[in-house]
Amino acid sequence: MAVKQFKTESKRLLDMMANSIYTNTDIFLRELISNASDALDKRHILSLTDSSISSDDPKIHVDVDKKNRTITISDNGIGMDKKELEDNLGTIARSGTFEFKKELDAKSEADIIGQFGVGFYSAFMVSDHVEVVSRKVNEDKAYCWSSDMDGYEITPAKRDEAGTTITLHIKPNTKEKKYDQYLDKDEIRMLIKKYSDFIRYPIEMMVESYDYKEDGKSEKVEKLETINSMQPIWKKNKKDITEDDYNNFYMQEYYDYAKPLKTIHYKVEGNTSYTALLYIPSQRPFNYYTSDYKLGLKLYSRGVFIKDEAKEIVSDYFRFIRGIVDSDDLSLNISREILQQDYQMNNLKKSVDKKIKSTLEKMLEKEREDYEKFFDNFGSQLKFGCYDNFGINKDVLIDLLMFKSSKEDKYVTLKEYVANMKKGQKDIYYASGESIEKIKQLPQLEKVLDKGYEVLYFTDSVDEFLTSIVREYDSKPFKSILKGDLDLDDEKEKKELEKKGEESKDLLEKIKEILKDKVSDVKVSNRLKSHPVCLVSDDNLSIDMEKVLRSMNQEGAKANKILEVNPDHELFKAIKKLNDEGKDITEYTDLLYDQALLMAGLELDDPSQYALKISELMLKAISE
Ligand code: ADP
Repeated sequence: MAVKQFKTESKRLLDMMANSIYTNTDIFLRELISNASDALDKRHILSLTDSSISSDDPKIHVDVDKKNRTITISDNGIGMDKKELEDNLGTIARSGTFEFKKELDAKSEADIIGQFGVGFYSAFMVSDHVEVVSRKVNEDKAYCWSSDMDGYEITPAKRDEAGTTITLHIKPNTKEKKYDQYLDKDEIRMLIKKYSDFIRYPIEMMVESYDYKEDGKSEKVEKLETINSMQPIWKKNKKDITEDDYNNFYMQEYYDYAKPLKTIHYKVEGNTSYTALLYIPSQRPFNYYTSDYKLGLKLYSRGVFIKDEAKEIVSDYFRFIRGIVDSDDLSLNISREILQQDYQMNNLKKSVDKKIKSTLEKMLEKEREDYEKFFDNFGSQLKFGCYDNFGINKDVLIDLLMFKSSKEDKYVTLKEYVANMKKGQKDIYYASGESIEKIKQLPQLEKVLDKGYEVLYFTDSVDEFLTSIVREYDSKPFKSILKGDLDLDDEKEKKELEKKGEESKDLLEKIKEILKDKVSDVKVSNRLKSHPVCLVSDDNLSIDMEKVLRSMNQEGAKANKILEVNPDHELFKAIKKLNDEGKDITEYTDLLYDQALLMAGLELDDPSQYALKISELMLKAISE
């Protein structure tokens, strides 16, 4: 029989396959096994309506023959007749796909092949000669389609029962690639496990094992073994899965010794149909906030593994999620437009995101303790998500955020904070610092708390930056108690403060003169109670943000510092008296300024000078 030529498009694809050095060639096996599985499905469906067709004992058999350098994959599925061999394998009826792909470079082309496969032709990635012997159900003739890539022929053949057997003649090794690896049974077994573990039909292979005799001696024997575990846990009925099953699967899959905090197993039907088994870890991976961290989400299509680290199907701000998404519609090959795959992926992502969000919302509402555990681990991620990209996702995430607050030092959400606001309170007060302990020592805090306001503790470096993007919540602006003017007083109190400022005008000016450009202003304060002074910033960069930016080597970052003095403090009154008498107050002013720096967690310009002055004062006090 004459050798036939492939159609131009098919030939192009074949050449691409043969030269696929960028591509992950391992996937050829997945592709051929998927085809076999489809053929078994088709036979089964036929048998339901046609009583002359049986579909007993469906299976896929894989064989490796090292000596003859072949791999054989056979199935007892629907099979192909002569015309189908010609139509299905001789041509690629994938219009449009390759037109579109012309615009892609070789590398991205390879990416697509690697992820989605290209079906039967991927056989040519690892072999230079392929034979397909097939016999269609209810026919007695079998045919062999064979090709060495230059062309193909179809000849009569023998096959005892219906089904298809594909024999791959593995290529010789090249400099770039060791094709011999595919003649290693353990390697093939591993590939089946990795890519086709959840194929519904048994994938059998003869494997060597040792038989132990009664006399203690062992003998090497060949045994037929089913390699795949067939049913994935996520495809099982929920009621047949125990909590232990879920946890064990998670722990095995992610090498985590702790059970997951939350398991989400669900199925979506409709435009985008898929099954997902997702987990929220109970502890944060040690490398979570580094570039080494890998997203633990896998994408499957109808039980067939597609890819690890499936970033395409979950938003970055939920990258703590682990598990599996098994799509029903994702096409396993590039027979559909690539654009359509993007569209499918996007829909999948929207749906997965939505589910994670609603799960977190429910946890927040009903399982507060668990949610707080989650937030301890991954809360910063959500805040970054809010902040990132100029706040494009802030509306999605804002209600999932929590901050510790002055009310019992517990976490509160912004919604809870606002619901709890005092009558007439306009702002959401916060104080930033390294830790709750440090914030509690801030002299500015006392008065705000005395007035009965709740203050959010911003201890995460992202917190205050967040307020530059998310400026308000429920129309209530965020307001740092360490910045700008605090509108804490009533009219009478305001008048009084103004008066005090007027009375101390000379002193304030003197202090300003002494401190020069160390501070941008000196004011009497309404936010101090026990302390004589404090440093605040104006409404722009805060002192704490300056610290964060400097730690990121942004030396230019500078907050405008304002020294606030407490006009009711005895020390202030004493210094005022000195000044009024025309005495020098330079040393006291320097000391007060240094105190304010220390309380704001800033470094002193000259710590040794400060210590000497304190010693001097102590000595004076003791001798008096
Ligand atoms: P796809 O599976 O995406 O259609 P393939 O190139 O993998 O593309 O296969 C082309 C066609 O060849 C399939 O649609 C199927 O009809 C047929 N085919 C491939 N493998 C088998 C098989 N093992 N048994 C029966 N038919 C097969």
